[in-house]
Amino acid sequence: MKYIFITGGVVSSLGKGICTASIGCLLEARGFKVTMLKFDPYINVDPGTMSPFQHGEVFVTDDGAETDLDLGHYERFTSAIMSQNNNVTTGQIYSSVIAKERRGEYLGRTVQVVPHITDEIKSRIYMLGKKLNVDVVLTEVGGTVGDIEGLPFLEAIRQIPFEVGRENCLYVHLTLVPMIHAAGEMKTKPTQHSVKELREIGIQPDLLVCRTEKRFSEAARDKIALFCNVSRDAVFQALDLGEIYEIPLMFHEQNLDDIIVKRLGLQGNPPDLASWREMVERAKNRTERIPIGVVGKYIELQDSYKSIYEALRHAGFANNVIVELVKIDAESLNGDILEETLNKVAGILIPGGFGIRGIEGKIRAARYSREKKIPFFGICLGMQCALIEFARNVCLLERANSLEFDPETPNPVVSMMEEQKKIINLGGTMRLGAFPCILREGTFAAAAYGGPQIISERHRHRFELNNKYLSLFEEKGLRVAGLFGESNLVEIIELADHPWFVGVQFHPEFKSRPLAPHPLFRDFILAAMVNRRS
Ligand code: GLN
Repeated sequence: MKYIFITGGVVSSLGKGICTASIGCLLEARGFKVTMLKFDPYINVDPGTMSPFQHGEVFVTDDGAETDLDLGHYERFTSAIMSQNNNVTTGQIYSSVIAKERRGEYLGRTVQVVPHITDEIKSRIYMLGKKLNVDVVLTEVGGTVGDIEGLPFLEAIRQIPFEVGRENCLYVHLTLVPMIHAAGEMKTKPTQHSVKELREIGIQPDLLVCRTEKRFSEAARDKIALFCNVSRDAVFQALDLGEIYEIPLMFHEQNLDDIIVKRLGLQGNPPDLASWREMVERAKNRTERIPIGVVGKYIELQDSYKSIYEALRHAGFANNVIVELVKIDAESLNGDILEETLNKVAGILIPGGFGIRGIEGKIRAARYSREKKIPFFGICLGMQCALIEFARNVCLLERANSLEFDPETPNPVVSMMEEQKKIINLGGTMRLGAFPCILREGTFAAAAYGGPQIISERHRHRFELNNKYLSLFEEKGLRVAGLFGESNLVEIIELADHPWFVGVQFHPEFKSRPLAPHPLFRDFILAAMVNRRS
């Protein structure tokens, strides 16, 4: 088994996740089986309890783990399926070391960061590779080199070559080569310092991937190679690209995958990037634009709705249009602004979320979609808002609400699942992960998925449509398009008398891929295009 470690230096947000995912993509194109592991050096057990303002989106895996959004990149760029074993935090490492200590497994020894924490970290890498029987495990260490909390992870990956052989390990370091505009110069010093910092810990990077806004000169490359102690052909340039799915191709053109397989002694096929290349070419040649309103509460942040934005982008690929995101702050949606904002978009999407802030604006947006017959896609909380709206304005249950927002409501049309009522701990206790859903014939959903069938989608919520109100809803024109048979939970709602109005209790965005756009997103965009043209 081979091991690739990806670290980052100088600043955060350089795109380590996408870099890792792109290397995975290139290795898969050469026929290797890969998996990716993300270490997050924070004490939270998982990001599930963190605010999207702190952390960005929480990515949910099939097995119901709440994970870092980089796992979304891993799944979108490769065919690897992520699980709870693919994202490990300091909190998880310490929890298991402390549990072992309590069970007496350390046989009276003093339990320390080195070797007990570092051994636990290493074991997670080995376990994952072994369990999945892959050719290459790519391990990304979160944070920036020099952070105190990242040290145990770096020490652990430093030790791995002593156990598996240096020839089976490769260290990739991602850095920044900034342009100082006033001087008109590209600066290599931050990269040199960052590598120096790594070497002090005992890690000599093999490859450097340098983020840069402009291509740097051969002289700059020589300088980086010389002072960072890497060969010239091991210095790569990661330019800012408009289309993120072009990144693997950019690396390939610089022979990044070539040097990786050579250094690791991997014997494989020449890379087959034909379908990836075709997807990128098609994406770059689109001209028609379609404005889609995303009504949320974290819209000022890039990362909070990452998978939603990516799924919309994929749906654009499928329909050969550029999906123009119109990010709308739910709290601002009122009065004239509502009409002014929403009459410019061809479709309205309300993503998932928690808490009462912005809810009334989302409900108004759902009403606007219903009444003006604008294609509507409500996801999780978005579906719940559509239900509240329908109950209030069509069924005339004036104070209808979700128990999440009004525990006193006389009409809890969205209420808590029985099992959820007993739960006290907030972390990892929602309805999480993949559940089957039976589609009903003659619905938008069945048409999208290619006929009535059992689908599997990922969930992350506590509340559900309250079945007590179902017959009233159906009488008034709402239709159920998908059910979780086992407990009769309504997973998909639609309005029949509408061009395309779909609410789903699950999160389809987590399963959309650039080469396999999600059918519901695809049909939502198609409906928006039809709406725009009519
Ligand atoms: N807050 C809602 C619930 O817990 C919706 C969750 C979501 O949108 N992911 O059911």
